Amino acid sequence: MWYHRDLRVHDHAPLMAALERGFTPVPVFVWTPDDGTGAASRRWLHEALGDLDAQLRALGSRLTVRVGEPREVLAGLISETGAKAVYWQERHEPLPAARDAALAAEWKRGGVAAEAFEGDCLFRPGTVLNKAGGPFRVFTPFWRHCCELPVGAPLPAPASLPAPSAWPRSESVESLGLKPRIGWDAGLTAAWDMTRAGALSRLKGFAEGGAISKYAGARDLPAVDGTSRLSPYLHFGQLSVREAYAAARRSGGEGRTRFLAELGWREFARHLLFSFPEMPRRPLDPSFERFSWADNPELAEAWRRGRTGMPLVDAGMRQLWETGWMHNRVRMVVGSFLVKNLLTDWRVGAAWFMDTLVDADMAQNTAGWQWVAGCGADAAPYFRVFNPVLQGEKFDPEGDYVRRFVPELARLPARWIHRPWEAPEAVLGAAGVRLGENYPAPVVSPALSRARALEAYARMRR
Ligand SMILES: Cc1cc2nc3c(=O)[nH]c(=O)nc-3n(C[C@H](O)[C@H](O)[C@H](O)COP(=O)(O)OP(=O)(O)OC[C@H]3O[C@@H](n4cnc5c(N)ncnc54)[C@H](O)[C@@H]3O)c2cc1C
Repeated sequence: MWYHRDLRVHDHAPLMAALERGFTPVPVFVWTPDDGTGAASRRWLHEALGDLDAQLRALGSRLTVRVGEPREVLAGLISETGAKAVYWQERHEPLPAARDAALAAEWKRGGVAAEAFEGDCLFRPGTVLNKAGGPFRVFTPFWRHCCELPVGAPLPAPASLPAPSAWPRSESVESLGLKPRIGWDAGLTAAWDMTRAGALSRLKGFAEGGAISKYAGARDLPAVDGTSRLSPYLHFGQLSVREAYAAARRSGGEGRTRFLAELGWREFARHLLFSFPEMPRRPLDPSFERFSWADNPELAEAWRRGRTGMPLVDAGMRQLWETGWMHNRVRMVVGSFLVKNLLTDWRVGAAWFMDTLVDADMAQNTAGWQWVAGCGADAAPYFRVFNPVLQGEKFDPEGDYVRRFVPELARLPARWIHRPWEAPEAVLGAAGVRLGENYPAPVVSPALSRARALEAYARMRR
């Protein structure tokens, strides 16, 4: 039983299939150092693996952890255990999927049954097709089509798991070195319970505690805890998407349709990546191959550090750094600022998100960045440049979100908090704000940089 990002025992098709067919599963996780997993994700993985081991042990089994290239590690384990089959949850990201397929062919040639089961998506990518038999490129018809299809009910966890006569040797999770050596992760560990229990408590609070009924309005307000915050649990498979879907369907909450549609965006991103495997590297709209991005590492660094002088952008980038997560509305604003106001290639932003988000996910992150940059499927048009001041005033009207993550501005009145450079000297002085000293002056003018972005876009179209 080969685990990847499906770190659970509930609603786990490969585990249930193994039991039904009379096998004794040996659950295995293979850690391949330098596989590109970002630092925040590695921190999360550390907890998720320990927690999966505890869940398996409660059922009479355990997690065997090995380090190395899966091909060699699993060949070793197959011969040590005499395994007759390898089961896993199907992966859809282009590189892992290709590697899994090659391994499966090799095992089959060696007489070992190899089978992958769907579990990461509501519907297997490649099966949701438009009338012409091709993939959908626009969300609304995609999701309308999906809503006509039946979604399977989540499977229960096994009541118990059989154990082999001897367990294979296992590395300890601690020895994988997933925790940072320099302790930058205090904010992360304070913000999250990274276990299955943490996922269930968020799901229950959200779907049964009433938050879902206010979701449609509250989901855009970054100062409010108005979204489910299930994204990292869904990414690591500690909670299956079918479990989240079923809980939302059960809740009669008003925001249910909207929440289900967000699970739909997750689904859409996965199906897109499956159909367009070049997406993480190349824009879906090929005219963007010609876009002349500015190469300004200092501005990109100011963005990463939350030192752009744009309060909402800085608050978002600092929320990301401190907690490993950023509110969706603010992801759009910081993305637009990087790609349009700073004219920086969206792949620079996508790479930083992959390293720092606890929910860093190749499919959703790529789709999110291509959407923001205007070069993706069903994207925000490039000429729609989010104004960080107006976005702040609309979605964080009292400035509570900025105050929480940019304490230098905490004493500024709401009227000025999203535009401190326009505040009278006396107001700044009373609030202890010294622009260019204890808080940066804006690194670009929103209006001028917007005009420059639109010019660059017009040049590309020509
Ligand atoms: C530039 C950019 C990058 C992003 N990168 C990621 C990423 O790496 N990983 C990730 O999980 N999400 C990503 N998103 C999507 C979205 O911001 C997060 O899924 C969401 O903020 C997670 O918070 P939540 O669980 O409270 O969401 P909720 O609002 O509670 O939504 C429920 C679930 O639906 C899915 N979802 C919600 N919004 C979106 C969306 N716009 N696109 C795709 N799926 C969505 C998530 O799985 C989420 O957990 C990105 C968005 C943008 C604009």
